[in-house]
Amino acid sequence: MASITFDRITKRYPDGTQAVSELDLAIRDGEFLVLVGPSGCGKTTALRMAAGLEEISEGRLLIGDRVVNEVHPSQRDIAMVFQSYALYPHMSVRENIAFPLQCAGLAKAEVRERVDRAADALGLTELLERRPKALSGGQRQRVAMGRAIVRQPQAFLMDEPLSNLDAKLRGQMRAEIRNLQREYRTTTLYVTHDQVEAMTMGDRIAVLRKGVLQQLGTPEELYESPANLFVAEFIGSPPMNVLSATVTRAGSGSELLLGSQRLVLPAGALDAYPELAGADATPVALGLRPEALRDAAGADPSWPRLLADVELVENLPPEKLVHLRLDAEPVVTEATLELAADVDQAAAEDLRALGRGSVLHARLPGTTPVREGTRAQFAVPPSALHFFDLSTGQAIA
Ligand code: ATP
Repeated sequence: MASITFDRITKRYPDGTQAVSELDLAIRDGEFLVLVGPSGCGKTTALRMAAGLEEISEGRLLIGDRVVNEVHPSQRDIAMVFQSYALYPHMSVRENIAFPLQCAGLAKAEVRERVDRAADALGLTELLERRPKALSGGQRQRVAMGRAIVRQPQAFLMDEPLSNLDAKLRGQMRAEIRNLQREYRTTTLYVTHDQVEAMTMGDRIAVLRKGVLQQLGTPEELYESPANLFVAEFIGSPPMNVLSATVTRAGSGSELLLGSQRLVLPAGALDAYPELAGADATPVALGLRPEALRDAAGADPSWPRLLADVELVENLPPEKLVHLRLDAEPVVTEATLELAADVDQAAAEDLRALGRGSVLHARLPGTTPVREGTRAQFAVPPSALHFFDLSTGQAIA
């Protein structure tokens, strides 16, 4: 096993496209690191450079402490798993899994033992004599995994290996890949555009945007302390609500102006933000996760209250997903539009057609008595407020 280090790596394609810019990223020995970001952000390019399939324009790539920029892919001792399984159709499952070992010239008994062990770990024992065409998509993906595992490489590189599977199977395979990685403790770099996959699988996650690393951290760190609006809106479903607001000083405490409303913050609420606590009126992008909006009834009386029109209540037992409207302006950044466009062009158009206030998403327990067409009061724990610089999108610390 070994670490994989990107040391200020840049990739420029011959046509001038800069796909990866000065990437500094170290995947620790035995770690499962997920590289995530929207389509075209440079994930595959980064992975292919690690594999040796793409030339590196600038910087150094290390596996362990060996610089491998000029080392041929076959000499890097890594195994790749792709979205397309690339199985040999004329070979049985056993032959497919054994193939790389036979190429490496391993003794027959050793090959058999390794294949049996991998098949057992992947639940393929009963299927070893079948041909790929007689397998389901999930089973084929397992064979592809098996072929990577038997080599006992120093690292796995995986590029969207689950994207051809249906949602249920994807969930199942996510867990299987994670369990296998824990068992074998093989350093893994896993590429996906799916933030749920990233959050559920990664020991740490690296978020990439337009070839530039935005943040590297554990799933909890990214969720709780996003470094900027891009990460804040990319991680989490439904995404963080982001609104234009002004923070002002009021006596010994502070207030938040949000559209026509004035939210009184309890004393000390901004202690962690000296930049805000000291200023008179600071315009900010205010971030609120959907679960930060709580039913006001029974909530801590010191928490600020927010009034909003309940437009839609979606029952999603054991929760309710509630769409609220507020007269505060949404913050529409280039990143917001990029993310919306990545999912759905119509959503991006909706964001452009502003002037109707903001729609907020709230995730409430299913028992919350909230009704469509009413105006309701919500309480917000001060610790759940996120503040970002309006012009740069960087988190205010
Ligand atoms: P996706 O999730 O859609 O696969 P990605 O994040 O993996 O995207 P890359 O495939 O690494 O992104 O592409 C990064 C950028 O480099 C994109 O702008 C892409 O168009 C560009 N690109 C990729 N391959 C080439 C190439 N051979 N020549 C020129 N530009 C390229």
